[in-house]
Amino acid sequence: MIKASAYTFKILRYDANDPGTKPRFATYRINVLPGLTVLTVLLRIREELDGTLAFRSSCRSAVCGSCAMVMNGKIDLACRTQVATFNTDTIILEPLPNLEVIRDLVVDLTPFWEMYEKIKPYLIRKSPVPAKEIPQSEAERQRIDQFVNCILCACCYGACPVLARDPGYVGPAAAAKLARFILDSRDERPGGDLEIVNDEHGVWGCDTVFRCIDACPKEVRPTDGIVDVRKAIVKHRYQKMMGKTNNEA
Ligand code: SF4
Repeated sequence: MIKASAYTFKILRYDANDPGTKPRFATYRINVLPGLTVLTVLLRIREELDGTLAFRSSCRSAVCGSCAMVMNGKIDLACRTQVATFNTDTIILEPLPNLEVIRDLVVDLTPFWEMYEKIKPYLIRKSPVPAKEIPQSEAERQRIDQFVNCILCACCYGACPVLARDPGYVGPAAAAKLARFILDSRDERPGGDLEIVNDEHGVWGCDTVFRCIDACPKEVRPTDGIVDVRKAIVKHRYQKMMGKTNNEA
């Protein structure tokens, strides 16, 4: 028979809509079967112990990216983190850093989505719309593989030390998404579009300390994308200087 073990969950609670409250840890003691995830426990706490606890979740399969949070100091998705993998029976849950808390583990993702929108996260074409789909070779697809896997969970955004000191920084996810499009053989965006990230709040602001890579649950390497965008900016600037480009924005 599988035996449950007792765990103490300490969850940072706060309600931005109640100015009288201060952040505080609420403690819940709960028995957990081996194999169960932090998200499963959160759902149980809300159903069985405290219906006021707020957190986001949806797919429970590391696909939707909703349940990113800090668990014993490590940023990850609660739905793919098994409780038994912690070497302690006390689990501390906190909301993602670098974002305002709305309530408990729910953060305001508006700045994250604003940066995402800013880089125009879609294919931009200048050629006439073809009658059929635009073919891609296997090598061309492989070039963008890792960036396509991004689920926009914001784990990297929460882990980024640059965002901690510069909230205007574009952030790892948006920069990696821009790389995903400029490396895409079907994208024809003007080189001038890269100017939007061509400053210290853009790709040049990255400290290159790889915290985003450590935090990413989908093995995306945002720093690689940032380096790719930097290279594209330098190449575009060089071509412009040499009068070799006619695709100015
Ligand atoms: Fe999440 Fe990784 Fe995408 Fe960042 S790059 S948003 S950590 S999936």
